[in-house]
Amino acid sequence: MQSIQHFFPLLDQPRKAVITAHQKPDGDAMGSMLGLYHFLVQLGHDVTVISPTNWASFLNWMPGVDKVIDFENKRELSVNIINSAEIIYCLDFNILHRTRNMETYLEKAKCIKVLIDHHQQPQEEVFDYGISDTGKSSTCEMIFDLIANSGHDDKINKEIATCLYTGIMTDTGSFRFPSTTASVHKAVARLKETGFNHSVIHENIYDNFSESRLRFIGNALLYKLDVLYEYNTAMMAISKYDLIKYEIKTGDTEGLVNYLLTIEGIKFGALVIDRDEERKWSFRSKGEFDVNAFARTHFEGGGHKNAAGGRSDETLDQTARKFKQIIKQYEKELQ
Ligand code: 5GP
Ligand code: MN
Repeated sequence: MQSIQHFFPLLDQPRKAVITAHQKPDGDAMGSMLGLYHFLVQLGHDVTVISPTNWASFLNWMPGVDKVIDFENKRELSVNIINSAEIIYCLDFNILHRTRNMETYLEKAKCIKVLIDHHQQPQEEVFDYGISDTGKSSTCEMIFDLIANSGHDDKINKEIATCLYTGIMTDTGSFRFPSTTASVHKAVARLKETGFNHSVIHENIYDNFSESRLRFIGNALLYKLDVLYEYNTAMMAISKYDLIKYEIKTGDTEGLVNYLLTIEGIKFGALVIDRDEERKWSFRSKGEFDVNAFARTHFEGGGHKNAAGGRSDETLDQTARKFKQIIKQYEKELQ
């Protein structure tokens, strides 16, 4: 994979491009796809944004989201567009299988592939150009850098700022995680010059849920919370029954895992949700405990040091029990 500087000259000739990100795109994945989209369109490129799956409805206010194609819904169209693309931008994921059913088509595509991502251990051999930097707060921050470093700072407008701010805000936990560097604040200051309204973005993302989602969280905190004080760990297992009872949709469970770390002294939070296809884990930690390594070792997953995910084919009870066994090995590390 060549460094992104070598790619910049290609921006100056209009190309047929596809932009994609990981399945179930979050604020950072959707924000970086759309931020890059609004940038490339200004440069005259013919751009299609394809999401591997659907996404949370709380992202549906984002500028340009109405043009995003859901691969699962429009497979044939998506495959045709992928096959005729000259450049594919892969954002906010490190391994192709994070695009679920798009993986084989991205693999087969003969065009130029560009990676822009901040996860650990990227699959570098797949990409022609890219940036992989775990020191970056978000992929949106990296898209900001790309625009600024490629000499097109003047193209940053309200749409781009709105999209990029969204991902920077969500991936930094509203500017609280250690990844919130001086560069993050400088980037936001530059974005803010466009005059976009950051308060509205915060409301759109965080104050946009159903009553039943709040009741679901209340129920989970009351009845599903398991605090393992000897390991400074808190866990929660959410059943399919609860997902159905409270009409929980994609995105409604986002942020739930963070409650676990609000308990004094808790360093490791683990949430598992009984999805149709798999049991999906979300891991969060504070300080030195590396949940990326934990997820890779035990639950076929990965991510970042303090935020990672994983999966299991076992039942919800089995995978929760397995977790409680495994955690015993980490007693020392978690003190
Ligand atoms: P979340 O818990 O919010 O779904 O994910 C936390 C972080 O871990 C995100 O950066 C996400 O991209 C990453 N992640 C989540 N699930 C997986 C997985 O199954 N495999 C890998 N490699 N990363 C994951
Ligand atoms: Mn991200």
